[in-house]
Amino acid sequence: MTSTNDIRRGFLDYFGSNGHQIVPSAPLVPQNDPTLMFVNAGMVPFKNVFTGLETRPYSTATSSQKCVRAGGKHNDLDNVGYTARHHTFFEMLGNFSFGDYFKEQAITHAWTLLTRDFGLPADRLMVTVYHTDDQAFDLWKKIAGLPDDRIVRIATKDNFWSMGSDGPCGPCSEIFYDHGDHIPGGPPGSPDEDGDRFVEIWNLVFMQYMQEADQIVGDLPRQSIDTGMGLERIAAVMQGVHDNYDTDTFKALIAASGALTHTATDGEMKASHRVIADHLRCSGFLVADGVLPANEGRGYVLRRIMRRAMRHAHLLGAKEPLMHRLVPALVAEMGAAYPELVRAQPLIEATLAQEETRFRQTLDKGLKLLDEATVGMKAGDVLPGETAFRLYDTYGFPYDLTEDALRAQDLAVDRAGFDAAMAEQKRAARAAWKGSGAKASDELWFDLAEELGATEFTGYANETGEGVV
Ligand code: ATP
Ligand code: MG
Ligand code: MG
Ligand code: MG
Repeated sequence: MTSTNDIRRGFLDYFGSNGHQIVPSAPLVPQNDPTLMFVNAGMVPFKNVFTGLETRPYSTATSSQKCVRAGGKHNDLDNVGYTARHHTFFEMLGNFSFGDYFKEQAITHAWTLLTRDFGLPADRLMVTVYHTDDQAFDLWKKIAGLPDDRIVRIATKDNFWSMGSDGPCGPCSEIFYDHGDHIPGGPPGSPDEDGDRFVEIWNLVFMQYMQEADQIVGDLPRQSIDTGMGLERIAAVMQGVHDNYDTDTFKALIAASGALTHTATDGEMKASHRVIADHLRCSGFLVADGVLPANEGRGYVLRRIMRRAMRHAHLLGAKEPLMHRLVPALVAEMGAAYPELVRAQPLIEATLAQEETRFRQTLDKGLKLLDEATVGMKAGDVLPGETAFRLYDTYGFPYDLTEDALRAQDLAVDRAGFDAAMAEQKRAARAAWKGSGAKASDELWFDLAEELGATEFTGYANETGEGVV
């Protein structure tokens, strides 16, 4: 079996030996983009190179980039534990051409690596192209010998990439692996494409045009390539398993949570073990990159993820804080590739232990309240937003934790009601503040906080710093 660590190495070596500069992963906190919460794709650290704002001493590069998709535009948090292929934290393998090679070579590289070096059977692969991209269609035919019915033309934005409304843009081509007809799901472009049978493994972006105000205004002077392949997804394929969570890395983490909680890792508790393994990686890497739990911004995303994992640890019957005891397994699996994890191990453990100790004080009470509130409810019913807000406000339950907790019973949460309760709380706080004779600058702070809070769901710390006012 090829280990995940070997696959990462194999990918970088392939492109390295084909003239690409091997570039280490950038930190998860974006260094060049204040509008972005976390690095969520391999191209992010190279944004300014693509636009020409920055030049580097190489015109092609390859990397394995740490990514988090748990907030903002790409949010896969709710999928975690429930699909075979989504994580909050994952690694994106990529090769990049900055005005160097274009479509033909990008497709040749991808096909050669997958079918020759990685040994994937060609008849399990299929691709999509943007519906008007005849060039890509013809190249896939020529280079890969794919029959017409395995090159699917897609007309949606899924296959057209752009960097905002002004800047480079262009068609995409996604490569899918067919895990077999024993798994539900249809091919890309079909009504049941969201199943787990045909899994997108690699996305090739052809930066071809320049756009202004969402209109293509011409060809880019330096046409470029950006690709991204999920390491965990290609590992599943190469390790002969269908599910990312059955690959070596995840098996080791899940085995550790099974051993420490004395619970079976399949069956009823399967989703909890998966959530814990995923959130452990995400929390560990975020702390290693300098994010600490907080009541707003990046730190609140981290806190949400930690608390959600902690509820699942609670479901597994853990009576003592669990997450920090899983860190050695994480470091054993990933520390060689990411030395920052080794360096930060004591901080990661301490942060998780402290956060879990504090949250335990309210978790039990909150869950009891939730149990009482859902007595007599049946599948399809909706928890009042007021209740979800009380859980948030008094017991420190992030909204999505409540949602996740109700999922097993097929209950939903009234989001609008929750938002209304939150808005009312803010209004009252603001009124009280005004009444206190506070200065204008304090009011400005409320305005700002409200504005920023609109995109990311944040809170304001109360005196204990625990719940949110
Ligand atoms: P999907 O349609 O499956 O959600 P995507 O089109 O959103 O994937 P891209 O933005 O194209 O994903 O990212 C490039 C690659 O990164 C994908 O082809 C996939 O292999 C991987 N990837 C994307 N999101 C995740 C995730 N949440 N967890 C694991 N791998 C991911
Ligand atoms: Mg996606
Ligand atoms: Mg996709
Ligand atoms: Mg994609």
